[in-house]
Amino acid sequence: LTNDQLDQWDRENFFHPSTHLAQHARGESPNRIVKTASGVYIEDRDGNKLLDAFAGLYCVNVGYGRTEISEAIAEQAKELAYYHAYVGHGTEASITLAKMVLDRAPANMSKVYFGLGGSDANETNIKLIWYYNNILGRPEKKKIISRWRGYHGSGLMTGSMTGLATFHNKFDLPLSQVIHTEAPYYYRRPRRNMSEAEFVLHCAAELEALIAREGADTIAAFIGEPILGTGGIVPPPAGYWEAIQQVLDKHDILLIADEVVTGFGRLGTMMGSDHYGMRPDLITIAKGLTSAYAPLSGSIVGDRMWQVLMDGTDENGPIGHGWTYSAHPIGAAAGIANLNLIDKLGLVENAGKTGAYLNAQMSAALGEHANVGEVRGEGMLCAVELVKDRDTATFFDASEKVAPRVVGEMARLGVIARAMPQGDIIGFSPPLCLSEAEADIVVEKTASAVKSVLG
Ligand code: PLP
Repeated sequence: LTNDQLDQWDRENFFHPSTHLAQHARGESPNRIVKTASGVYIEDRDGNKLLDAFAGLYCVNVGYGRTEISEAIAEQAKELAYYHAYVGHGTEASITLAKMVLDRAPANMSKVYFGLGGSDANETNIKLIWYYNNILGRPEKKKIISRWRGYHGSGLMTGSMTGLATFHNKFDLPLSQVIHTEAPYYYRRPRRNMSEAEFVLHCAAELEALIAREGADTIAAFIGEPILGTGGIVPPPAGYWEAIQQVLDKHDILLIADEVVTGFGRLGTMMGSDHYGMRPDLITIAKGLTSAYAPLSGSIVGDRMWQVLMDGTDENGPIGHGWTYSAHPIGAAAGIANLNLIDKLGLVENAGKTGAYLNAQMSAALGEHANVGEVRGEGMLCAVELVKDRDTATFFDASEKVAPRVVGEMARLGVIARAMPQGDIIGFSPPLCLSEAEADIVVEKTASAVKSVLG
């Protein structure tokens, strides 16, 4: 097929996710047809080679073209492409992966329930929490608190928990069981003269006030990414999770750590909850579990919930919640090979070390630019927030499309970054195998693109 033919079929037939449909149909948005990839580079059918500083969608953590994983997938497909996991059935791959996940999870974690993607894993979490509270005889303890700017998926419940307007507008979301609280976004704190410590107290007080308004007996859980991802790559201020955890403990509210982005090394620790000392009851995993070589996700369930769920089945029978593809053996085979590769290549350590280098170099290159409000990050996550006025942190007018223009220019220069959905924030989430030389390229092209768009 020629590129023109593919382009035509694409615009005629393909409903792309999160895409401006009319612009796409009119041919105003680019069609990049990706052909192959290796290491941190992707190559399209027009022959362009680009350094993917977003690892797909923060997911190709081990980098592209790893034959250890593709061969494991092929072998699994040949031996057993599918069997389900219902009523105690399993496969060697899914059972092995469950053990490997638990070996890498915090000590109080008990079991893993496998799904396909981060959204369905978060749906599973909420259903398990509601089930748990029903068994405990408190069905009214149901509401879920999430943060503005949190991202937890695109389903009805998960889109509700997501705290970004584009995921709510015109969908009649959020659902009534979901309420939102302050994001730990120090750069956009309510008063410029607030210290970090004061801001942490403010976030905890906001949470307390919300719980008081709604009634603790109506609130089941709090969900949060260890570091806000899609909402702008925003590390929490020091002491934030400790303060939040104290409030949750006081009101018997469960904590879900959504580690779809941070799980398996991105912050330089195996889990992001380890990094920030969180004590979750449930952990959501997806992307980094297989480095996206095959779809697979998981809900890791902690001891206190597991015991109640298990005891409950004697009275209530099996838990009626399952997907055809739960624990799909091909995903599981990819997961095993991926986790082994992460260990073998020392990628958790590299994410910490090279990630710190990337962040430091990005700060050095852009930290003083008149339109850079903040360069921030943690591990192999980095963000550059662009503002109209650095002293007042004033936003650019959305119609100027500053971040999309910078990202477009970066792609022209051969580096993929992401214009995050809210504000003018350029996001970076490279594969964990990024080298310092590759980090230098990312920084250099970012600085050039910012200069060319903003001067
Ligand atoms: N949770 C977080 C933190 C995410 O970043 C994402 C996706 O980016 C999801 C959940 C949803 O995962 P998926 O797109 O696989 O459904």
